[in-house]
Amino acid sequence: MAQGVCVITEFREGAFRRVSFEIASEGRRLADELGEPLLALALGESIDALAADLGNYGVEKVYVVDDPNLKNYRAETYVPVAAEVLNNLDPKVILTPASVDGKDFSARLAARLGAGLATDCTELKVEGGSLKAKRPMYAGKAFAWYEWADGAWPQMASCRPNVMDCLAPDTSKKAEVEGAGVEVVAGTQTQVVNIEKDAGGKLDLTEAEVIVSGGRGMKGPENFAMLEELAKLLGAAVGASRSAVDSGWRPHSDQVGQTGKVVTPNLYIACGISGAIQHLAGMSSSKYIVAVNKDPEAPIFSKADYGVVEDLFQFMPALIEEVKTLKSTC
Ligand SMILES: Cc1cc2nc3c(=O)[nH]c(=O)nc-3n(C[C@H](O)[C@H](O)[C@H](O)COP(=O)(O)OP(=O)(O)OC[C@H]3O[C@@H](n4cnc5c(N)ncnc54)[C@H](O)[C@@H]3O)c2cc1C
Repeated sequence: MAQGVCVITEFREGAFRRVSFEIASEGRRLADELGEPLLALALGESIDALAADLGNYGVEKVYVVDDPNLKNYRAETYVPVAAEVLNNLDPKVILTPASVDGKDFSARLAARLGAGLATDCTELKVEGGSLKAKRPMYAGKAFAWYEWADGAWPQMASCRPNVMDCLAPDTSKKAEVEGAGVEVVAGTQTQVVNIEKDAGGKLDLTEAEVIVSGGRGMKGPENFAMLEELAKLLGAAVGASRSAVDSGWRPHSDQVGQTGKVVTPNLYIACGISGAIQHLAGMSSSKYIVAVNKDPEAPIFSKADYGVVEDLFQFMPALIEEVKTLKSTC
């Protein structure tokens, strides 16, 4: 009989990605409501020593598959291993990250398990002993609640990063760690030859807590230096609208929106961005949105928590000075 809530973590470059702790925290809440134990499945290379730390976020038991073939994500290696472990565990609920790799992984895994998958969820709840999942539709114009047919276990949901609250880690709590006891067979159809990182150690937009983003209103690539300066002061990442990217002012990796990245920082500062629906699709779940635009009718203001109707070339330098002053006095 299906039992437990199981979260599948994401481990890259020797560390759990933050979304792993978010889904563990969410899993803890759901497990408590369902009266079930919280389990985790951790796949990766050299993951064994860190797995117990998932207990900091409420995980009771971690099943680990530690293998050099799991160093980088490859569907053909990861999915069969996860499917075998989960078929053995038979959990009621499975949570995965809706990260770039996680989206690919979750869909393939759900197909293997024959599970119903709600993707890119922003909220989860338990009703009548069963999971309900909220997810955005039509590029964020509407939200829909999903539920599973009676007895259709496992109920599987991938969770949008940076949306669900992360518990404050309780370092006194460690999870029990057990080898999952499955053989890892390296896929042969694809291999990761090389991973090229952005030069300059740029913050990953999808993990950034603060994003300063610029659009066509920035007028040219040179003016992004202003946003870079503010971003440095705030420990933020710099994003861009598609217009700025299509104009060749910023790389595509900076693009936020429907055909770019979906971001959910605590603070999103949009400068000279009109707020087209395709841009909003990528950032409207940000906790706080500040818009700087000289047009009071710009649609971005309908989503903004704070709106500044001003020429950004006047406002941004003043804001940067103000932040510098505040930082020097703190
Ligand atoms: C299929 C499809 C997918 C798309 N995907 C994306 C996507 O992923 N991301 C995305 O961003 N767009 C996307 N777009 C494009 C989107 O529709 C808009 O064209 C784009 O977002 C507009 O970018 P923008 O706001 O920078 O430019 P604009 O719409 O031109 O807005 C510029 C804004 O700057 C303001 N401004 C100008 N000068 C100043 C100043 N001095 N001070 C203050 N404000 C100023 C203006 O008032 C204006 O509101 C997509 C479109 C399609 C059709």
